[in-house]
Amino acid sequence: MPELPEVETIRRSLLPLIQGREIINIEILHPDILINHDQRPLHGWEITGLRRRGKYLLIDLVQASDPAEGALLMVHLRMTGKLLYRTEEIEPTKHTHLRFSLKGENIAWLDFEDVRRFGRVWLLPAFGELENPGLASLGPEPLSAEWSLESFRDILQRRRTSIKAVLLDQTVVAGIGNIYCDEALFRAGISPDRPSNSLSTEETARLQEAVRYVIKEGIGHRGTSFRDYVDGLGGKGHFQQHLQVYRRNGQKCTVCGETIVKRKIAGRGTHICPQCQK
Ligand SMILES: [Zn+2]
Repeated sequence: MPELPEVETIRRSLLPLIQGREIINIEILHPDILINHDQRPLHGWEITGLRRRGKYLLIDLVQASDPAEGALLMVHLRMTGKLLYRTEEIEPTKHTHLRFSLKGENIAWLDFEDVRRFGRVWLLPAFGELENPGLASLGPEPLSAEWSLESFRDILQRRRTSIKAVLLDQTVVAGIGNIYCDEALFRAGISPDRPSNSLSTEETARLQEAVRYVIKEGIGHRGTSFRDYVDGLGGKGHFQQHLQVYRRNGQKCTVCGETIVKRKIAGRGTHICPQCQK
């Protein structure tokens, strides 16, 4: 599943290609993927920006004929969704669910493809994301100053579930999934099954630093590609070559030489160095 670094990489790859262009048409190949409550028009929208919040992509729009009329395309890729920019028109596959045609000197296409079909696209009023329950309940962005040590510590002290479950909770901090969660806990030297409220202030600070580090590194390496994830131009990320524990079970820890193990914690396959993580 794409996490913050993957979604951010998609955003950065697409922004210069789609900003300022007009959506001539949205072709709907599978109607359950696009949620358009108010039946807004599917054409004539100029793309004014592309933002990210947590794992959501937010495409800001204005009507080309009436710039006072705004809208928003909100995209969640869930497990296997992809947004792919193409300058050559290809036959849609059975996994192509939406196709955006973009006006320009040469026409281009933005295809929403999704093998598992859990991904969704919403056409909303301008800044409609603020009314969306999933997005409105998101915690702070991990790289923002808004995510303070004090607020993080307060949340951890109020919860007794595993620290892994708390880090995966999008209302605590936005955008972290299984890969970056396991990597951050390893880097901080904290066992993922520790009760959240057992972490000292020093450990909490170390964990926050580790989260920020792995998220920045993940973005720097253009995300982690195992099977599905690619950026907006179909390019793979490279962070899988730098992972310390995720999917390295059975291999030796790069720090201490102990064998990395995999256990189920918070309902997820969790990768741990039993020696480095206490
Ligand atoms: Zn180790």
